[in-house]
Amino acid sequence: MKILIINAGSSSLKYQLLDMDNEKLIAKGNCEKIGLSDPFISYKHDGKEEVFAGAKNHEEAIKKVLDILVDKKGGMLKNFDEIDAIGHRVVMGGWIFKESTLIDDKVIDEIDRLSEMAPLHNPAHVLCMRACKKVMPKIPQVAIFDTAFHTTMPEKAFMYAIKYEDYEKYHIRRYGAHGTSHRYVVQTLAKVLGKDVNKVNAITCHIGNGSSITAIKNGQSVDTSMGLTPLQGVVMGTRSGDIDPTVVQFLCSHKNKTVDEVLTYLNKECGLLGVSGVSSDHRETSKEAENGNKRAKLALDLLAYSVKKYIGAYMAVLNGAEAIVFTGGIGENSFEAREQILEDMEALGIVIDKDKNKNFKRGQIELISAENSKVKVYVIPTDEELMMARDTKEIVKNLKKSK
Ligand code: ADP
Repeated sequence: MKILIINAGSSSLKYQLLDMDNEKLIAKGNCEKIGLSDPFISYKHDGKEEVFAGAKNHEEAIKKVLDILVDKKGGMLKNFDEIDAIGHRVVMGGWIFKESTLIDDKVIDEIDRLSEMAPLHNPAHVLCMRACKKVMPKIPQVAIFDTAFHTTMPEKAFMYAIKYEDYEKYHIRRYGAHGTSHRYVVQTLAKVLGKDVNKVNAITCHIGNGSSITAIKNGQSVDTSMGLTPLQGVVMGTRSGDIDPTVVQFLCSHKNKTVDEVLTYLNKECGLLGVSGVSSDHRETSKEAENGNKRAKLALDLLAYSVKKYIGAYMAVLNGAEAIVFTGGIGENSFEAREQILEDMEALGIVIDKDKNKNFKRGQIELISAENSKVKVYVIPTDEELMMARDTKEIVKNLKKSK
């Protein structure tokens, strides 16, 4: 079964074609700068990479990707009919979508309705779904929501203590994100532990450009660090993470900015970038810190400290976790970040083996806690596209059965 995974943002569209009979990647690429100047499409397959002219809009991007995939020269498909299903990543499923869902017109309208909460993403998802429907009307499409995994959070975790009427009227609450990644790593963890996922209590740390920490009880998300939007939580590449809302008012009045402008500032100019003044990239910031740049070191300290605090909080929420998992670009690759986050946590039963943490082959699952550590600490590379393709396969399979 061949599944096309689409991950659309406001001006980009990542795609992957997977063979789900053996869970192998066939081809992947990215449509970049959609609707901007000099758009282009990358296409990787069989260890090669090609670049094609880009697209003016999302519909054109979908058409071009399909053309590339069936191209006589380098295409990996003979025709569109070889695609059994399409899975779309959806950033905001709100309170409505609790699991991956087969797409029909009603579902598209609901995703569109949630655009207010993800104005850069949901409209792009909707455009892509409609474009796929137009080009390949017979191929089933599935929506996989970043928020779905977190819909199991109890009220006390997802509510903000604002006026209840406003929560009811405007649906202002914590939704979280990265749900597909947290779900993938906890399922993988369950396999590694040889347990049913419904019996796993763990803290999963997805740390990349965007980062979120999740408390998982009996395989379900019971709390997560991101909030109504991905701005909340730990310090990230360009996002401030948790902040006193009064800071917004201060910045508005001192910098003569609107609330929208300050929110853009908090999303795009803060975090590692804002504190270090160097880069939003963890590697770059680390290099600068090693060269003695104090602000760069401070930025890394803030990031590690914010993750440590969430781990401590979630140890309390879970009454102790059996495992902590690191994933995402930084979580998987920076031994320094992992070491710094988990230092001095013996009292909570967390002891890292510094050697193991530093010396293992990238891209593999690794146990990095010391033998005397009560809590096991793992690095588990995430694979959101594979998780999405598994969901899509499952839903489409059932669809075929029910026919
Ligand atoms: P996104 O949230 O955009 O998916 P990623 O998960 O790819 O981001 O993470 C990007 C971050 O991972 C960057 O800050 C980058 O510096 C960091 N990173 C990637 N590889 C390494 C590495 N080898 N060592 C340290 N940090 C790394």
